[in-house]
Amino acid sequence: MLLRIRFHGRGGQGGKTASRILGSAAFDEGLNVQDSPVYGAERRGAPVTAFTRISDGEILERGFIFDPDVVIVMDETLLEDPTASPLSGLREGGILFVNSSRKPDELNVNLDGVEVVTLNITDMALELLGKPILSTASAAVAAKLISVVSPDAVTSAVRGELGEGSLSPEAIQMNVALAGRAFSLVPSFKLSTKENYSPGTVVPIGVISGMEGSEDILLVGNSALRKTGDWRIYAPTIDYEKCTNCMICYAYCPESAMVIETDGRPVIDMENCKGCLICYRECPTKAISITREVRAL
Ligand code: SF4
Ligand code: SF4
Repeated sequence: MLLRIRFHGRGGQGGKTASRILGSAAFDEGLNVQDSPVYGAERRGAPVTAFTRISDGEILERGFIFDPDVVIVMDETLLEDPTASPLSGLREGGILFVNSSRKPDELNVNLDGVEVVTLNITDMALELLGKPILSTASAAVAAKLISVVSPDAVTSAVRGELGEGSLSPEAIQMNVALAGRAFSLVPSFKLSTKENYSPGTVVPIGVISGMEGSEDILLVGNSALRKTGDWRIYAPTIDYEKCTNCMICYAYCPESAMVIETDGRPVIDMENCKGCLICYRECPTKAISITREVRAL
């Protein structure tokens, strides 16, 4: 048995940690594992991919997973992001999980012979953690879908992985609760997987040249070309009754999404505001409020 699981999330959502938690949980079950992430432009909200391989034998593959058995889409808007292409290579007989409040048949995906599962883990994370951090819920969902990792192993892996950081015991406990809830709410499947590669097999790993797909990144002032507005989970709004035109939000905005109008007022460019909420935290007069946004395809 060799299971290949690919996580697609956005920087800050916890895709890399999800792959680690899943790998640690499977390791606790006595299986061999590999996990690794790959980042593009490293900034909050940018697409991030992480890989976990789980096997009861030696794992002879290395690198990217191009033909996953399971794809976990942690942000629904990635489904139509050509730089992420989360569905690429998902094999027939595999499983697609999408973090969404919509039913599988309401998603705009056409995949023959693939089980599609949806669950809104963002709302669950907001309720239990107060933040849209999805690492534990995503790892727990993946663990349940593949049927080879127990909930106890997931709990132990969540404690182990998050315990290495600076999280409080209470925060870790809430992550354990989140993982338990996510695990209980998705079905499990018996996947028939490809055999492991035989010893000595060289697994071809595609190489993406440094220039490929990077034209926009190389251009000066390229933020505006990325339309980072679809990364938002919360949207900021300015109350001009409280705004003093101090321009602190303009100075802090990392996406240049605060635009100064000719009358001196700051206006938010919602096509490019990625919802980092730095303006909300820095505004001295509390003129900026935030509202939860849910965007679907
Ligand atoms: S930081 Fe607040 S008060 Fe200052 S310009 Fe921005 S919205 Fe207005
Ligand atoms: S939330 Fe505020 S600081 Fe962040 S990108 Fe949007 S406008 Fe800029």
